[in-house]
Amino acid sequence: MTEVKKYFAVIGNPIHHSLSPQIHATFAKEAGLLIDYEAVLSPLDQFKQITEILISQKLSGANVTLPFKKEAYQLATTHSNHARIAEAVNTLEFRDDEIIGYNTDGIGLVRDLAQNIKINLTHKKILLIGAGGAAEGVIFSILEKKPIDLTLTNRTIEKLIAIKNRMHGYAQNLHVNLNMIEIAKIPHQYFDIIINATSSSLNEADLYIDNKVFHEKCLAYDMMYGKETPFIRQAKSQQAKTTDGIGMLVEQAAESFFIWHHIKPQTKSVIESLRTK
Ligand code: NDP
Repeated sequence: MTEVKKYFAVIGNPIHHSLSPQIHATFAKEAGLLIDYEAVLSPLDQFKQITEILISQKLSGANVTLPFKKEAYQLATTHSNHARIAEAVNTLEFRDDEIIGYNTDGIGLVRDLAQNIKINLTHKKILLIGAGGAAEGVIFSILEKKPIDLTLTNRTIEKLIAIKNRMHGYAQNLHVNLNMIEIAKIPHQYFDIIINATSSSLNEADLYIDNKVFHEKCLAYDMMYGKETPFIRQAKSQQAKTTDGIGMLVEQAAESFFIWHHIKPQTKSVIESLRTK
């Protein structure tokens, strides 16, 4: 019997920069699967229509990126636990009449830290900068690892308060201290892991974090990838260890791949090859 080629896509705006087609093609080749995975640019006001057209063309699944993760959440008829808590979806699976929404960003971050960087979040003091979709997607996964505390900070205080209030109950249930702080008041040399989940680096913008927040024993993790960011440069200047978001990108893709194909792909060589490009 000949294998039926399955069809997948990543939908976003902009989308030309996406590495997802390349990552999924590599995973599929390694697994001996026949798939088509393409990048689809959706006009900003047409995410639902574009996705419905793709479904009618027998799309099996889709990754969803900026700025459509909330709309993908609305479109899904069923949600995974992580997607429901984040209220954002980055992976869709189309099964009969059902649209199942998942969020693999948090799993991707936590797996990158544990498996590639070899850092266990349990009993760590963690600072998360940003209160947008990326931050929302990872907070619950970080809490599940039971750090000593997770502190949230953001440029816009209203968004910080809203995200803290929404996540408060989950943190309580998991017995983790969830705090928030203004950027200017972040304590010096306190955190073990400092994660930049803002898009500030897109414009080379400074986050106005005091140099003394960083120290030689902390890890500065920037979710951005592809270039050295002001955040990473500042952390390095204070002798902190640093890493970019390529590992998270590949690990969240691997989780999507597992959802669709029930095969866990090898990620290490893919991360290495993307880093050396
Ligand atoms: P959003 O647009 O939803 O949120 C943007 C966040 O960045 C907000 O908290 C915003 O603060 C903050 N911000 C933007 N500009 C500045 C600035 N100049 N100074 C301080 N804060 C700023 O974006 P996302 O959350 O979806 O994405 C954030 C980043 O994470 C992106 O760079 C994205 O590429 C990356 N990402 C990486 C992934 C990976 O797999 N490696 C996965 C998902 C995202 P405010 O509220 O004040 O506007």
